[in-house]
Amino acid sequence: MMPKTASCRYCSSAALKVLLVLDEPFAIYKCNSCSLVQTLPEAKVIYNENSTYLETYLANEELFKSFFRPFVQFAHQCKPAGKMLDIGCSTGFIMDEALKLGYDTEGLELNKKAVEYCLSRGLKVYNEFLADCAFPDNTFDIVTMSHVLEHIPDLSDFLQELHRVVKKTGFLVLSQPLYDSLIAKVLKHKWYGWVPKEHIWHFTPGTISMFLEENGFKVVKMERNSMYYPLGFNAKTLATGLLARLAAKMGLGDQFYVAAQKQ
Ligand SMILES: [Zn+2]
Repeated sequence: MMPKTASCRYCSSAALKVLLVLDEPFAIYKCNSCSLVQTLPEAKVIYNENSTYLETYLANEELFKSFFRPFVQFAHQCKPAGKMLDIGCSTGFIMDEALKLGYDTEGLELNKKAVEYCLSRGLKVYNEFLADCAFPDNTFDIVTMSHVLEHIPDLSDFLQELHRVVKKTGFLVLSQPLYDSLIAKVLKHKWYGWVPKEHIWHFTPGTISMFLEENGFKVVKMERNSMYYPLGFNAKTLATGLLARLAAKMGLGDQFYVAAQKQ
């Protein structure tokens, strides 16, 4: 089952343990050396080519806005003003909320259609990887990423670049799927966070704190909540939706927010 030459994508250790088998050839592994959980083998994804991405967001605009609003509020509690960069900004819904609160916002997005949509609405968005933007040192007061970090193959390089462009005492604010949660256990391989070709990393509050601190950011605030589950029209989706709401109320949801400050 385990790829013959498998090693940790973060620390290169070969001490990997299988946590969950997904569709062949993918499985979720935990590294016994650095403890990061990851999907192997590596798959190549080109995000620019997803043609239905924009349509999906626009067809569910109100839903996505209600999903992003609490995340922006969380960021606002950490850093109430300043220059913001939203990485993986999609249709710009997070930027819209941030603009309402008075932030000066810019966004990065790989999907060309989503970038065109943002530009048509007057948002300042670049169709670039962070590494290719060449922002000056200490540019941003706050960088937000909602469900983005799990997609980034070269985590160390990416975090180094983030550390360079965030101002001294500036913030990194993330929202992440949480696999170590009741709903993920109930849904097993059908849980939203198991997207083998796209979701490379799977964090817990503990592992993300460790990982961010290793890369020059100190975690200052966390909040656990839940992914949105529509109540649906059949018994199964209704049961899942109700369970997700109950879990969130009990502080056992399957998503969490993290704010970390540059050291
Ligand atoms: Zn490792």
